[in-house]
Amino acid sequence: MIDVLEIGDCRITAVRAGSYWWDGGAMFGVVPKTLWGKHQQSDDLNRVEAAFNCFVVETGDRRVLIETGGGVRHDQRSLDRMKMTRGVNATDAVAGAGFDPASIDLVINTHLHWDHCGGNTLDLGGRVTAAFPNAHYVTQRAELNHAREQHPRDGVSYRAVNYEPLLEAGRLQLLDGDVEVSLGIRVQIAPGHNRDMMVVLVQSAHQTWCHLADLAPYAAHVTPTWVAAFDLFPLETIQSKTELFERAAADGWWCSFGHDPVVSFARIVKAGPKSAFTVQL
Ligand SMILES: [Zn+2]
Repeated sequence: MIDVLEIGDCRITAVRAGSYWWDGGAMFGVVPKTLWGKHQQSDDLNRVEAAFNCFVVETGDRRVLIETGGGVRHDQRSLDRMKMTRGVNATDAVAGAGFDPASIDLVINTHLHWDHCGGNTLDLGGRVTAAFPNAHYVTQRAELNHAREQHPRDGVSYRAVNYEPLLEAGRLQLLDGDVEVSLGIRVQIAPGHNRDMMVVLVQSAHQTWCHLADLAPYAAHVTPTWVAAFDLFPLETIQSKTELFERAAADGWWCSFGHDPVVSFARIVKAGPKSAFTVQL
C-alpha cells in the first residue's frame, strides 16, 4: 500500500515493508483487551498485525528514508511466531514504491530495534553491505551505546548486523541530541519507548509532519496513557506523548505511527479540556 502526503515543498510517501504479528497485550500494556480490541483485531493467538512502516521524504533534490523495517534475517521459528511467510527487504519495498534504492541520500533510524533498522544492510556475496549504496545513515549515539550494552531486558531487540558493519564502513553517523539532519528535517529525542528514540519532524511552508515511531505504534495509542508493555519508561512515554500531541493539535500537524497497518497519516486533535486526543484521518 502506497500513500502520499504533500506539505509545502515536501512529498512524503508511506512505504510498508511487510508486517509481522505480535501479542496484543504487549502492544497495549495495561489497557484491557475489551478496550484495545475495538481498535485492533487479534487472531486466535491474540496477536495483532504490526506493519513495518517506513517513509520516503522528497525535499528539493534530496531523498530521505525513515526506518528500514525488519529485513529478511529470520529463522523459521521466528517467522512462525510472527506469522510471517518471509521478510521484506527495505530496498524491495522502496523500489516497489517507485524509488531507486540508489537514489536515497539519507537513512534515519529512529532507534536500533530490529524492526526499525533490519533493512539497513544486505548480505551480498558473503559480505554485509549497505542496502542503500549512496546513503549515509543516522541514529543517536546513546542509542548505539544502549544497543551494545545488550541489557537483559531488551538486548534481544538489537542485532549488530544491522548497524556495526555500517559503522565500520564509516556510513553511520552518530547524533548527539536534537538536530536538523537535512534542510527542513529535524530529529528530536522523545524518551519513553526507550531512553533515546527519536521522532522525526518535517516542516515546509509552515506545515509539519511528525513520524512518532514507537512513541505511538498505532493510531489507537493517541491516548497518552495507552502505552505498550515494551516501553522501558512508561511515565516518560506519557509525558513525551502529551507534549508532542499538544503541539500537534495546536499547529495542525500530520502524524504517522510506527506500526499501524492501516493508518498512514492522521491529524491529532484535542478531544476535551484535559490531555485527551483523538485522530482525524
Ligand atoms: Zn517498533
